[in-house]
Amino acid sequence: MSSLPVLVIGAGPAGLRAATDLAELNIPVVLVERRKELGGAPIRWKYHSLAPDFTPTEEVLGPMIKFCKNSSNIEVIEEAVVEGYGGSAGDFSVKIRKINGEVQDRKVAAIIVATGFEHFDATVDPRYSYGKAPNVIGINELEVMISEGKVVGHDGKIPKRVAFIFCVGSRDRSTNPWCCTVCCGVSIKQAIELKQLLNDVQIYMIYMDIRTIGLWEKLYWDSMEKYGINYIRGRVGEVFYTGEKLLVKGEDTLVRGPFEVLFDMVVLAVGIEPGEGTKQVASALKLKVNEFGFLAPKIPNIHFDSGKEGIFLAGTCVAPMSVEESIAEGSAAAMQAAKLVSRTKIIV
Ligand SMILES: Cc1cc2nc3c(=O)[nH]c(=O)nc-3n(C[C@H](O)[C@H](O)[C@H](O)COP(=O)(O)OP(=O)(O)OC[C@H]3O[C@@H](n4cnc5c(N)ncnc54)[C@H](O)[C@@H]3O)c2cc1C
Repeated sequence: MSSLPVLVIGAGPAGLRAATDLAELNIPVVLVERRKELGGAPIRWKYHSLAPDFTPTEEVLGPMIKFCKNSSNIEVIEEAVVEGYGGSAGDFSVKIRKINGEVQDRKVAAIIVATGFEHFDATVDPRYSYGKAPNVIGINELEVMISEGKVVGHDGKIPKRVAFIFCVGSRDRSTNPWCCTVCCGVSIKQAIELKQLLNDVQIYMIYMDIRTIGLWEKLYWDSMEKYGINYIRGRVGEVFYTGEKLLVKGEDTLVRGPFEVLFDMVVLAVGIEPGEGTKQVASALKLKVNEFGFLAPKIPNIHFDSGKEGIFLAGTCVAPMSVEESIAEGSAAAMQAAKLVSRTKIIV
């Protein structure tokens, strides 16, 4: 006798944790991931280490990825999405379509949605010249460079002066009004890693407010006191390529005056958006979304409850959050699914 499996959609930190916890309870899992690899954003973007403690990403995600790939309780279906569902809690039928067109109709007891986020596309905001000027990159691209131990401009030169611009596509009513919650801390973590990699680099953090909440705040103090990283409270009006350098023009909102500074590289702290994957699942499972496009829980403070019996939510598909929060949400959703399975044991 065994129960119907739980379907987990998305194999980032939240989905991996949910699948792992369920499998450890001996509940079978079908883990559907639309990309070829497991691990979500941290693996896709080769995060070098995780804020706030510089923990190697591999140490956090590696064991879960390995477990999900090897557990006899977990069936991983990569390069696939869920196209639709029917039935009710305890006895759903779902349609899973693989990238090669193959379709599987499956029965599942519960569904956990953990489809995560996408980075803000900085080409949408012309102020930053992203995609036009060389050496204007996103924090996601810098993360890859740091992982590879090689931070160079388009001409192969090591940058001597680097600016980080905070809140690109965050806290901005012309793009996304919400705070992405992790990008201040992630930017500071990267600035420290850059200092460790390129000793004599000068780094300027151009910020609106510093939101390194909770224990992440230590990154902020260390960055100034131990690494000599500079902070400018201001708003950027334009990043202009002079043909040689990047001229960053803006207003210093502390001294209330304009500034114009030349840099070799500009790093945009691009925000977190719901993304296409979350849109796709919202439409396939007919889930409610909020005014920003994130999946809307029935009660805003109880993220796992989608408002549909048997369908649970976890991680950044609900709101911007850190890896540690996403993992905790994966566990919380797994617990709800496990309760449902233990109530409804259907014999297959
Ligand atoms: C540049 C950057 C650096 C960061 N660094 C840190 C850090 O140092 N520390 C920290 O705590 N947080 C960090 N974060 C935040 C961290 O990336 C997120 O908290 C975490 O990845 C969220 O996990 P998740 O599982 O919710 O989503 P994701 O990591 O986005 O995973 C979602 C998964 O679902 C899949 N998927 C999407 N749609 C579908 C679909 N329709 N069907 C099937 N599969 C789908 C995706 O392919 C993906 O594998 C960083 C964020 C950014 C932008």
